[in-house]
Amino acid sequence: VPDALSTLKERLGRIADLSTARLVLEWDLQTMMPPGGAAARAEHLTTLEILTHELFTSDEVGNLLDELRPLEASLPHDDVDGCLLRVTRRDYEKATCVPTELAAEITHVTTEAHPVWVSARAGADWNAFRPWLERILELKLRYADCFPPGDDPYDVFLDDFEPGMRTADVRAIFDRLKPELVDLTLANSEAPAERFVGGPFPSEAQHAISLDVMRAFGADDGSFRLDPAVHPFCTSFSVSDVRLTTRYAEHDLTAHSLFSTMHEVGHGLYERGIDPSLERTPLGHGCSSALHESQSRLWENVIGRSLPFWRWFYPRMQAAHPEVLGSVPLERFHRTVNGVRPGLIRVDADETTYGLHIILRFELEQELLTGRLAPADVPAAWNARMADYLGVVVPDDGVGCLQDVHWSFGGFGYFPTYQLGNVISVQIWDRLREDVGDTDELIERGDFAPIHEWLRESLYRLGRMYTPEETIRRVAGGPIDPEPYLRYLRDKDASLAAA
Ligand code: ZN
Repeated sequence: VPDALSTLKERLGRIADLSTARLVLEWDLQTMMPPGGAAARAEHLTTLEILTHELFTSDEVGNLLDELRPLEASLPHDDVDGCLLRVTRRDYEKATCVPTELAAEITHVTTEAHPVWVSARAGADWNAFRPWLERILELKLRYADCFPPGDDPYDVFLDDFEPGMRTADVRAIFDRLKPELVDLTLANSEAPAERFVGGPFPSEAQHAISLDVMRAFGADDGSFRLDPAVHPFCTSFSVSDVRLTTRYAEHDLTAHSLFSTMHEVGHGLYERGIDPSLERTPLGHGCSSALHESQSRLWENVIGRSLPFWRWFYPRMQAAHPEVLGSVPLERFHRTVNGVRPGLIRVDADETTYGLHIILRFELEQELLTGRLAPADVPAAWNARMADYLGVVVPDDGVGCLQDVHWSFGGFGYFPTYQLGNVISVQIWDRLREDVGDTDELIERGDFAPIHEWLRESLYRLGRMYTPEETIRRVAGGPIDPEPYLRYLRDKDASLAAA
């Protein structure tokens, strides 16, 4: 007779397989599926959601967890089985609060909302999307009602992406960042854009050098794929099957596929580096959205926009785009890819203005969820704050409040984790440099292996073994702290001004 722990692991393995099947269908939906597939895909995903939710919230799992309580209590804190029981119990307690029918309805409605959002964005038509947002908001408020009230109504949404973090913690960090980001933005807004920013950068050349940098960072061909998608993202179906997506903007250097590829490679290396023994368990993914984002930002920005990186990579970039970049000196190019330029689009934003895009969304989401802002008034509120924080005039909702996919899938609580990821990325980088030594010299030679290995050993391999807070302490040596990030931005600003 198998013991309770083996039985639980076997059940969790099946549940993980169903969840992975769902990820495959979602990857297909965003990369390959023709629009005609949307209605059927909503059924596929809803069925998988029902099966996964029923299996995981079953009495059988509950009974096994009860039976294993003494074992869990007897194991040391960092024992893998102990971690598995602790994390599974937390996930189980959350999942059992939500009725299967509600979980299924959320999946169904948000899957159907995806193509509506795509066409509303393309047509800059907020009113086409608004009824769907109203429906999704109503479902998410019912979802929130399933849980005991927290200190803040937004806590429950944040917890889905950043387990254990509270809205008040985020607000404290953002309150510290906001005035500094506004100052740094204002101090730089005069700089005109260089002509070469407009390209053209042919897609084939972008794809080729995206693959180049992906391999250099440590993404092995046997385990990674790179495909185009409207919204770049990364997903993984096992530690050795990682799917990255990117996009090709031919006339905008800041939206060059290289940056979105470096970003997604960071996510991919994290998933690739998880200890294979954690696969098919609740521990077999990255720890939280903010920790995940800390890795995409570390590879995209801290490394990928640094001068040492471009000392190494710029000749290849020039060779890929000889007409446009052939006569542009390295320093001018480097200054341009780091330029602080308030713009409309979050994913194309520089490191300084990026945070303001997030703070705006964090505020609007809280207002929407507490009823202080009606969905019909989102465009006006959005545009007013874009003018306020970034001095940007929004010409239409397609490049305004419809630009992001998140609300269409009910991902309230997701946006703040992006900026927390930026903050954490610098904390981790500072710690890494203490251990690895002269990273500038390594990067300038294109030797990323020691950096990758340190990150794998210190962070990636752990998966979800520890809470995000514990994981940040382990890898960065302290709690989340905005000061290193502000210092990093100010140093960069000063060195670019002096160059
Ligand atoms: Zn990301």
